[in-house]
Amino acid sequence: MALCPKCGKEIADSAVVCKHCHATIGTPQRPIGVTVIAALTLLGAAQILISAIGMLFRRHFGCSVILGIRIPDVVNGLVMLILGGLALYCGLGFLKQKAQARRIFLWLAGFVILSSLITVGGSLTGLLTIAVLGYIVYYLVRRKDYFTN
Ligand SMILES: [Zn+2]
Repeated sequence: MALCPKCGKEIADSAVVCKHCHATIGTPQRPIGVTVIAALTLLGAAQILISAIGMLFRRHFGCSVILGIRIPDVVNGLVMLILGGLALYCGLGFLKQKAQARRIFLWLAGFVILSSLITVGGSLTGLLTIAVLGYIVYYLVRRKDYFTN
């Protein structure tokens, strides 16, 4: 038996949450779900960064029209570079169960889901992105206790 660092009552050695005061005891071991999410996030980051580099190093710059607004490839590429960098940070942070990575990811996912809803409408890739991100958000919101570093 161990003692809860918060209320001092006896708890099981393997306890993740104190059954008396509900305090979180340390950081639980990384579950497989978090490892899968980290891998998916790192894959997504790689994909976004490759697209960003493709945008920034093309021979002739053009424009993309999003919602009737002409957005130069350079701007598009820079935004993707930032998004890809943040996704990379989140993927690596998930492996270390960092609370900050979880927070940034939730903001990022919200932004991507919202912009996918607005721009791609019914496309399959768009719907798939929304479904996968939606599930990850659902998981992360429920498993806050896994991210305490
Ligand atoms: Zn306690």
